Amino acid sequence: CGIVGYIGQHDTKEILLNGLEKLEYRGYDSAGIAVLNDEDIDLYKVKGRIAALRKRVNDTALSTMGIGHTRWATHGEPSAENAHPHQSATGRFVLVHNGVIENYQELKRDYLNGVAFGSETDTEVIVQLVEKNYEQYQDTAEAFRQTVSLLKGSYAIGLIDKEDQDTIYVAKNKSPLLVGLGDGFNVVASDAMATLKETDQYLEIYDQEVVLVNRHFVEVQKLNGAVVNRRPFTAQIDV
Ligand code: GLU
Repeated sequence: CGIVGYIGQHDTKEILLNGLEKLEYRGYDSAGIAVLNDEDIDLYKVKGRIAALRKRVNDTALSTMGIGHTRWATHGEPSAENAHPHQSATGRFVLVHNGVIENYQELKRDYLNGVAFGSETDTEVIVQLVEKNYEQYQDTAEAFRQTVSLLKGSYAIGLIDKEDQDTIYVAKNKSPLLVGLGDGFNVVASDAMATLKETDQYLEIYDQEVVLVNRHFVEVQKLNGAVVNRRPFTAQIDV
Protein backbone atom coordinates (compact mmCIF):
# COMPACT_ATOMS: atom_id res chain seq x y z
CA CYS A 1 0.00 0.00 0.00
CA GLY A 2 1.11 3.53 -0.59
CA ILE A 3 0.18 7.12 -1.31
CA VAL A 4 1.34 9.64 -3.87
CA GLY A 5 0.48 13.28 -4.50
CA TYR A 6 1.41 15.95 -7.04
CA ILE A 7 0.90 19.69 -7.36
CA GLY A 8 2.45 21.54 -10.31
CA GLN A 9 2.17 22.24 -14.02
CA HIS A 10 2.53 18.81 -15.53
CA ASP A 11 0.21 15.91 -16.29
CA THR A 12 -0.94 14.99 -12.80
CA LYS A 13 -2.84 11.84 -13.77
CA GLU A 14 0.18 10.36 -15.53
CA ILE A 15 2.52 11.22 -12.65
CA LEU A 16 0.12 9.70 -10.10
CA LEU A 17 -0.41 6.50 -12.12
CA ASN A 18 3.34 6.11 -12.69
CA GLY A 19 3.93 6.65 -8.99
CA LEU A 20 1.34 4.04 -8.01
CA GLU A 21 2.93 1.55 -10.41
CA LYS A 22 6.26 2.10 -8.65
CA LEU A 23 4.54 1.37 -5.33
CA GLU A 24 3.00 -1.89 -6.57
CA TYR A 25 5.75 -3.90 -4.87
CA ARG A 26 4.27 -2.94 -1.49
CA GLY A 27 1.17 -5.02 -2.25
CA TYR A 28 -2.43 -3.86 -2.56
CA ASP A 29 -5.97 -4.94 -3.42
CA SER A 30 -7.42 -1.75 -4.89
CA ALA A 31 -6.35 1.68 -6.05
CA GLY A 32 -7.62 5.13 -6.86
CA ILE A 33 -6.77 8.71 -7.71
CA ALA A 34 -8.49 12.08 -7.28
CA VAL A 35 -7.57 15.06 -9.44
CA LEU A 36 -8.78 18.61 -9.44
CA ASN A 37 -10.41 19.80 -12.65
CA ASP A 38 -11.33 23.49 -12.61
CA GLU A 39 -14.07 23.60 -10.00
CA ASP A 40 -14.48 19.90 -9.43
CA ILE A 41 -12.77 16.77 -8.16
CA ASP A 42 -12.62 13.79 -10.51
CA LEU A 43 -12.49 10.50 -8.67
CA TYR A 44 -11.39 7.17 -10.15
CA LYS A 45 -11.36 3.99 -8.05
CA VAL A 46 -11.07 0.30 -8.89
CA LYS A 47 -10.67 -3.03 -7.18
CA GLY A 48 -7.57 -4.71 -8.58
CA ARG A 49 -4.52 -3.54 -10.44
CA ILE A 50 -3.14 -0.17 -11.49
CA ALA A 51 -3.56 -1.30 -15.10
CA ALA A 52 -7.33 -1.41 -14.48
CA LEU A 53 -7.21 2.04 -12.90
CA ARG A 54 -5.28 3.31 -15.91
CA LYS A 55 -8.04 2.09 -18.21
CA ARG A 56 -10.63 3.88 -16.11
CA VAL A 57 -8.71 7.17 -16.29
CA ASN A 58 -9.31 7.72 -19.97
CA ASP A 59 -10.03 11.43 -20.24
CA THR A 60 -7.38 13.82 -21.45
CA ALA A 61 -8.28 16.95 -19.46
CA LEU A 62 -5.15 18.38 -17.87
CA SER A 63 -5.13 18.61 -14.12
CA THR A 64 -2.42 20.22 -12.02
CA MET A 65 -3.05 18.69 -8.63
CA GLY A 66 -4.08 15.30 -7.27
CA ILE A 67 -3.61 12.39 -4.85
CA GLY A 68 -3.41 8.63 -5.39
CA HIS A 69 -3.56 5.49 -3.28
CA THR A 70 -2.96 1.76 -3.33
CA ARG A 71 -4.98 0.04 -0.60
CA TRP A 72 -4.30 -2.96 1.59
CA ALA A 73 -7.73 -3.35 3.18
CA THR A 74 -7.89 -3.47 6.98
CA HIS A 75 -11.46 -2.20 7.58
CA GLY A 76 -14.02 -3.04 4.89
CA GLU A 77 -13.60 -5.54 2.05
CA PRO A 78 -11.60 -4.71 -1.08
CA SER A 79 -14.10 -2.96 -3.39
CA ALA A 80 -14.41 0.21 -5.46
CA GLU A 81 -16.53 1.85 -2.70
CA ASN A 82 -13.93 1.13 -0.02
CA ALA A 83 -11.00 2.11 -2.25
CA HIS A 84 -9.46 5.52 -1.56
CA PRO A 85 -9.65 8.47 -2.13
CA HIS A 86 -12.61 9.02 0.19
CA GLN A 87 -14.79 12.10 -0.07
CA SER A 88 -16.58 14.12 2.62
CA ALA A 89 -20.40 14.33 2.69
CA THR A 90 -20.60 17.58 0.68
CA GLY A 91 -17.85 16.45 -1.70
CA ARG A 92 -15.59 19.35 -0.78
CA PHE A 93 -12.74 17.33 0.78
CA VAL A 94 -11.07 14.20 -0.57
CA LEU A 95 -8.44 12.09 1.21
CA VAL A 96 -6.07 9.12 0.95
CA HIS A 97 -4.70 7.25 3.97
CA ASN A 98 -2.30 4.41 4.70
CA GLY A 99 -2.49 2.85 8.12
CA VAL A 100 -5.12 2.10 10.72
CA ILE A 101 -7.18 4.58 12.77
CA GLU A 102 -7.62 2.70 16.04
CA ASN A 103 -10.26 5.01 17.54
CA TYR A 104 -12.40 5.47 14.42
CA GLN A 105 -15.52 4.04 16.07
CA GLU A 106 -15.24 6.43 19.01
CA LEU A 107 -14.64 9.36 16.68
CA LYS A 108 -17.66 8.41 14.60
CA ARG A 109 -19.84 8.12 17.69
CA ASP A 110 -18.59 11.30 19.39
CA TYR A 111 -18.39 13.70 16.43
CA LEU A 112 -20.13 12.33 13.36
CA ASN A 113 -23.60 11.38 14.45
CA GLY A 114 -25.99 11.59 11.51
CA VAL A 115 -23.29 11.85 8.83
CA ALA A 116 -23.99 9.53 5.86
CA PHE A 117 -20.95 7.33 5.18
CA GLY A 118 -20.15 5.96 1.73
CA SER A 119 -17.71 3.23 2.80
CA GLU A 120 -16.92 0.78 5.59
CA THR A 121 -13.39 2.06 6.12
CA ASP A 122 -11.77 3.55 9.19
CA THR A 123 -10.30 6.14 6.80
CA GLU A 124 -13.56 7.83 5.88
CA VAL A 125 -13.91 9.07 9.46
CA ILE A 126 -10.89 11.33 8.87
CA VAL A 127 -12.30 13.15 5.86
CA GLN A 128 -15.76 13.52 7.46
CA LEU A 129 -14.06 14.96 10.56
CA VAL A 130 -12.15 17.49 8.45
CA GLU A 131 -15.45 18.71 7.03
CA LYS A 132 -17.03 18.85 10.49
CA ASN A 133 -14.06 20.79 11.88
CA TYR A 134 -14.10 23.12 8.90
CA GLU A 135 -17.67 24.15 9.83
CA GLN A 136 -16.29 25.19 13.19
CA TYR A 137 -12.91 26.75 12.28
CA GLN A 138 -13.57 28.04 8.71
CA ASP A 139 -9.91 27.36 7.91
CA THR A 140 -8.78 24.16 6.23
CA ALA A 141 -5.28 24.02 7.75
CA GLU A 142 -6.74 24.47 11.24
CA ALA A 143 -9.52 21.94 10.59
CA PHE A 144 -6.88 19.49 9.34
CA ARG A 145 -4.59 19.94 12.37
CA GLN A 146 -7.56 19.62 14.75
CA THR A 147 -8.64 16.44 12.98
CA VAL A 148 -5.18 14.87 13.00
CA SER A 149 -4.84 15.70 16.73
CA LEU A 150 -7.83 13.43 17.40
CA LEU A 151 -6.44 10.40 15.55
CA LYS A 152 -4.97 7.38 17.34
CA GLY A 153 -3.09 4.84 15.28
CA SER A 154 -0.95 4.91 12.16
CA TYR A 155 -1.37 7.19 9.21
CA ALA A 156 0.15 8.76 6.15
CA ILE A 157 -2.53 11.13 4.86
CA GLY A 158 -2.99 13.33 1.81
CA LEU A 159 -5.99 15.70 1.67
CA ILE A 160 -7.33 17.99 -1.04
CA ASP A 161 -9.85 20.82 -0.55
CA LYS A 162 -11.54 21.72 -3.83
CA GLU A 163 -11.94 25.32 -2.65
CA ASP A 164 -8.15 25.62 -2.24
CA GLN A 165 -6.38 24.65 -5.44
CA ASP A 166 -2.96 25.60 -4.07
CA THR A 167 -2.42 23.09 -1.30
CA ILE A 168 -2.14 19.38 -0.58
CA TYR A 169 -2.47 18.80 3.16
CA VAL A 170 -0.30 16.00 4.49
CA ALA A 171 0.17 14.31 7.87
CA LYS A 172 2.12 11.36 9.22
CA ASN A 173 2.32 9.00 12.19
CA LYS A 174 4.06 5.59 12.05
CA SER A 175 3.39 5.15 8.31
CA PRO A 176 6.12 6.18 5.85
CA LEU A 177 5.84 9.55 4.08
CA LEU A 178 8.16 11.90 2.21
CA VAL A 179 7.67 15.27 0.53
CA GLY A 180 9.65 15.75 -2.70
CA LEU A 181 10.76 19.19 -3.83
CA GLY A 182 10.74 20.38 -7.44
CA ASP A 183 11.01 23.57 -9.44
CA GLY A 184 7.42 24.88 -9.73
CA PHE A 185 5.98 21.63 -8.41
CA ASN A 186 6.12 19.42 -5.34
CA VAL A 187 5.26 15.79 -4.68
CA VAL A 188 4.23 13.52 -1.82
CA ALA A 189 5.05 9.80 -1.64
CA SER A 190 5.27 6.83 0.71
CA ASP A 191 8.57 5.94 -0.94
CA ALA A 192 10.89 8.17 -3.00
CA MET A 193 10.91 5.42 -5.61
CA ALA A 194 7.39 6.52 -6.63
CA THR A 195 8.51 10.01 -7.68
CA LEU A 196 12.25 9.75 -8.43
CA LYS A 197 11.45 10.60 -12.05
CA GLU A 198 10.24 14.00 -10.86
CA THR A 199 12.86 14.86 -8.21
CA ASP A 200 15.65 13.47 -6.02
CA GLN A 201 15.25 16.15 -3.31
CA TYR A 202 13.16 15.02 -0.34
CA LEU A 203 12.08 16.21 3.08
CA GLU A 204 11.79 13.60 5.76
CA ILE A 205 8.53 14.01 7.71
CA TYR A 206 8.41 12.95 11.34
CA ASP A 207 5.55 11.50 13.34
CA GLN A 208 2.83 13.96 14.36
CA GLU A 209 3.81 16.57 11.81
CA VAL A 210 1.58 18.08 9.15
CA VAL A 211 2.80 19.63 5.90
CA LEU A 212 1.18 22.20 3.63
CA VAL A 213 2.39 21.39 0.12
CA ASN A 214 2.03 24.27 -2.34
CA ARG A 215 3.38 24.43 -5.94
CA HIS A 216 6.14 26.80 -4.89
CA PHE A 217 6.78 26.08 -1.24
CA VAL A 218 6.36 23.51 1.48
CA GLU A 219 5.66 24.25 5.13
CA VAL A 220 6.24 21.63 7.81
CA GLN A 221 4.31 22.21 11.04
CA LYS A 222 3.73 20.66 14.43
CA LEU A 223 0.15 19.76 15.32
CA ASN A 224 -0.12 23.09 17.18
CA GLY A 225 0.74 24.98 14.00
CA ALA A 226 4.35 25.86 14.96
CA VAL A 227 6.54 25.94 11.83
CA VAL A 228 9.47 23.48 11.63
CA ASN A 229 12.57 24.13 9.52
CA ARG A 230 14.00 21.14 7.73
CA ARG A 231 16.63 20.63 5.06
CA PRO A 232 16.07 18.27 2.15
CA PHE A 233 18.24 15.22 1.47
CA THR A 234 19.19 13.74 -1.88
CA ALA A 235 17.53 10.37 -2.49
CA GLN A 236 19.96 7.72 -3.75
CA ILE A 237 18.89 5.54 -6.60
CA ASP A 238 19.71 1.89 -5.91
CA VAL A 239 20.50 0.10 -9.12
N1 GLU B 1 -7.17 1.21 6.97
C1 GLU B 1 -7.41 1.75 5.68
C2 GLU B 1 -8.40 0.91 4.90
O1 GLU B 1 -8.64 -0.22 5.23
C3 GLU B 1 -6.12 1.97 4.87
C4 GLU B 1 -5.43 0.69 4.50
C5 GLU B 1 -4.10 0.93 3.77
O2 GLU B 1 -3.11 1.32 4.44
O3 GLU B 1 -4.03 0.74 2.55
O4 GLU B 1 -8.94 1.37 3.94
